[in-house]
Amino acid sequence: MKILQSRTLSLFFVVLASTWLYSSLVFAQPIRVVATFPDLADITRQIGKELVSVDSLATGVEDPHGVPVRPSFVPRLNRADVLVVTGLGDEHSWLPALLEVASNPKILPGRTGYIDCAVGVPVLGTPIRIDRAEGDTHPQGNPHYMLDPVSGKIAARNIAAGLSRNFPQHQQAFEKNLKAYVAELDDWITRWEKMAAPLRGVKYVDYHPAWIYFANRFGMKLVGSIELKPGIEPTPNHLVELVEQIKQEKPQVLIYGSQNPRLPQQISAQTGVKVLRLYSNAGGRPETDTYIKWIDYTVRTLVQAVS
Ligand SMILES: [Zn+2]
Repeated sequence: MKILQSRTLSLFFVVLASTWLYSSLVFAQPIRVVATFPDLADITRQIGKELVSVDSLATGVEDPHGVPVRPSFVPRLNRADVLVVTGLGDEHSWLPALLEVASNPKILPGRTGYIDCAVGVPVLGTPIRIDRAEGDTHPQGNPHYMLDPVSGKIAARNIAAGLSRNFPQHQQAFEKNLKAYVAELDDWITRWEKMAAPLRGVKYVDYHPAWIYFANRFGMKLVGSIELKPGIEPTPNHLVELVEQIKQEKPQVLIYGSQNPRLPQQISAQTGVKVLRLYSNAGGRPETDTYIKWIDYTVRTLVQAVS
């Protein structure tokens, strides 16, 4: 009887131990990632694959500098293992306050769970005066670098490094997936550079100066912006000057995104410039739900518009 009991007991422990091992292998909790924007969320999925569960705060249609904060953001940030951000002050006007209430020290700036994708990006548009005087939304330089797919590769490397720093047991998997993703992106970059040949020398106007990295990569020339300064709505004087400038320099397109179409349409009516709505993040349209699809859509649409 005693022997039977101890046998039953040891069998019980064997079953218990193997069930635990099995469930920890099969039902292992994925790493919880919160990304601020859909393009960063997509790249994180490509690198983390089945090891991560990724959630984007913004949907891609919002002004990136003024994403409307929803109550659901707080618990999502509170439970996150890591946070992936564009950085360079892109999220400055809405993320710091959220992080304060989310009370998750792991993902605060400077902590290991805070993954800043801008590290190592060659920054364009650095202002001479580094402050937020008059509400300038680009005091650390222009943060819209994801529109240059070559900088997109830097973001991918930062994401892989950030995931490895937090979960070194999966480093090999992250590095393997990064290598494959960068190779795929490189193929696309070669294709885009060929496709974008008609964009070389094309003059454009934008609403918010979100397009300098894209323009720099594909050879487009900025004539002017509707905004007086990044994030600052124009004065009547500025609009009169811009219309004159458009009449003289004859840019081929006026690009706007999350903003109200009223001013772009008004300027188009006065000058004949073609107006295009293109979002400065992935996800703004259903067909741009991944980083690659978004850049591809953007290149295609612009080429079509100027042809
Ligand atoms: Zn901006």
